[in-house]
Amino acid sequence: NLLVAKEVTVLAFKDQVIFEEAEIVKADSLPYTVYTPFKNKWLEKYNSIAPVQEWDATPYFSNFFKSTFEFPSLGQIGFILSSIKVKPHNLKLVANYHETRDFPALDSTSYLSPHLRFGTVSIRKLVNWAVRKNPVFLSELIWREFFMQILFHFPKVKNRNFKSAYDGIEWRNDEADFKRWCEGKTGYPIVDAGMRELNETGFMHNRVRMVVASFLTKHLLIDWRWGEAYFAEKLLDYELSANNGNWQWAAGSGCDAAPYFRIFNPEEQTKKFDAEEIYIRKWVKEKSKPIVEHKFARERCLDVYKKAVKE
Ligand code: FAD
Repeated sequence: NLLVAKEVTVLAFKDQVIFEEAEIVKADSLPYTVYTPFKNKWLEKYNSIAPVQEWDATPYFSNFFKSTFEFPSLGQIGFILSSIKVKPHNLKLVANYHETRDFPALDSTSYLSPHLRFGTVSIRKLVNWAVRKNPVFLSELIWREFFMQILFHFPKVKNRNFKSAYDGIEWRNDEADFKRWCEGKTGYPIVDAGMRELNETGFMHNRVRMVVASFLTKHLLIDWRWGEAYFAEKLLDYELSANNGNWQWAAGSGCDAAPYFRIFNPEEQTKKFDAEEIYIRKWVKEKSKPIVEHKFARERCLDVYKKAVKE
């Protein structure tokens, strides 16, 4: 608005996605709200133009506008350098992605998220690579674009449930429980490990993000917006559409979300994805008593959701 007011021409270019806004829509021009048909259409369109053009911007750096204006440093505008380092991304880690990606101890995801979020890698280069090498990994990159177009078409999701049928849920929103969750002191080792990893590194493995999000919304009946805000504060890869889409997925209120009666059992998740507790032991050394018993929490959640949601 400032530039327009000063009569400076503003041009917008697509850069951080392959397909933006309303480029992938249904035959009747309505947006997709279910992932699989969106993905199929996305692939169809990509294949019609593949490989997408990759651009090396370096030769054009000299075209940047030069002026005598001294640009303020990040410090001058109030940012403080974090002691947390951003991990480099690594595509070698995803060689067997389809088999290994769900196991947090295996360290076999790409760590691309902060780089994609800040645009320090090219999505075009990545997608051209993934199409040839790794279709399951490609699917995750398409999830990213799926949630971006959801936010574009349904901006209300920023503060509200995608499915308004969920508006009536009576959240407990217990502040002491929320604090325990934030600090990784719920007594559920997989949840606590995830939250401690987040607090210390600004990152959490996707499988564990799903477990802690489900735990907050379903076991503790705390509004997904509280969890979303905490993640936004801590994640180095924080990105509104992915964070919001995944939180609403976990709470059941999102598009294409898990049905509310599917409640992750943290112990079962541990048996499946960290059976030897290698990931857990990295972050949690002590044994402690769960703040809420699983069976009780599960039934409480079903009662509260059932009362509110008539799907
Ligand atoms: P990889 O498994 O190597 O995946 C490669 C890339 O695919 C990621 O970098 C990301 O860009 C994309 N991707 C993977 N999974 C998803 C997904 N479920 N949704 C959308 N894109 C995906 N991702 C963010 O980038 N920012 C967030 O703020 C964010 N918040 C989340 C909150 C919750 C509750 C959950 C369950 C997931 C969230 N995710 C978010 C998605 C996912 O957990 C991260 O993208 C992933 O863990 C980042 O690690 P990676 O780059 O090693 O992932």
